[in-house]
Amino acid sequence: MKPKSIVLGCTGQDGSYLCKSLLDQGFDVVGTTTKKYPNLERLSTLKITDKFKVLYCDLEDFDQIKKIINKINPIEIYNLSAQSSVGSSFKKPIETHKSIVNATLNILEACRELNFKGNIFFAGSSEIFGSTKIPANLNSPIDLRSPYATAKYQSFLISKMYRKIYQLNCVTGILFNHESPLRDEKFVIKKIINKSIKIKKGSKEKLILGDITIKRDWGYAKEYVEAFQLINRSELNRDYLICTGKSHSLQTIIEKIFNKLNLDWTDHVEVRRDLYRSNEIESSLGDPKQIYKDLGWKSKIHIDELIQKLLDDEIHK
Ligand code: NDP
Repeated sequence: MKPKSIVLGCTGQDGSYLCKSLLDQGFDVVGTTTKKYPNLERLSTLKITDKFKVLYCDLEDFDQIKKIINKINPIEIYNLSAQSSVGSSFKKPIETHKSIVNATLNILEACRELNFKGNIFFAGSSEIFGSTKIPANLNSPIDLRSPYATAKYQSFLISKMYRKIYQLNCVTGILFNHESPLRDEKFVIKKIINKSIKIKKGSKEKLILGDITIKRDWGYAKEYVEAFQLINRSELNRDYLICTGKSHSLQTIIEKIFNKLNLDWTDHVEVRRDLYRSNEIESSLGDPKQIYKDLGWKSKIHIDELIQKLLDDEIHK
């Protein structure tokens, strides 16, 4: 019998890459979606739509989750489902909270009631650290600057609590930003890629952005889902940061993208003060030493290579 895995949030960027990776390893995968009519475009891009079942599951509904976990009886669960945009979380704090905190609590409580002995991974976020002056690690101070960060921190604590008090094998990967051709267009790098290519093809539109001095530790989603699995399967049962250890300003990324297209970014980008976030994180950088030391994982892709991948994918669509 094939080992079974449940991926909650299988239609998103990471869910799609994770399902592909699990299928390639011979897992019997069951994915869940919170939509009656889910967007299966990413699964279709990876040519895996008909390779596994996608079940509707309202993660607010405890009984439904419990039933699915009980029926599938997987050896591992990945909880990636979330309203995942920081920007949207300011406008949708309740939805964000429910989709992250209530879902996590329901999943873990269902596992507790079922006496689940498998591994459970939760996708946390570097947003919990706010701005980092030095590379963040698990002992860094917490500075919550959005409803999204607050929800991710609450879920991180809930997961720790279930591990400590109820001995569930549940761990959190604290993810720094990661991109790929499957990233939603509402996220900034994908937006820059799409708009710059339109400009290259002759569009006179301006690329309108907020603060471009912000710095982030940007990685590649396909590599990050490999880290999810190592963390989830590790007998150490610990939380880890998943990051590259290098940060770049948004302006540097814009320059690199426009340079690759032989365009001068200053001719095409308009920075608008009214788009600045009042609680903006100026700089975010993680320390990847622990995950490398314990699990041998490190990000291999250089930022230039990642940008090239994103551009190539969009150009050849
Ligand atoms: P995506 O937004 O691409 O995927 C998340 C999935 O969650 C969606 O496809 C959606 O699937 C589901 N979902 C459940 N509730 C909601 C809701 N209320 N609004 C919108 N979507 C919802 O995220 P990623 O794959 O990029 O990220 C995976 C996880 O990692 C998320 O939990 C995210 O918060 C976290 N993370 C991601 C980072 C990144 O840089 N990508 C950085 C840090 C953390 P459906 O509609 O089918 O239910």
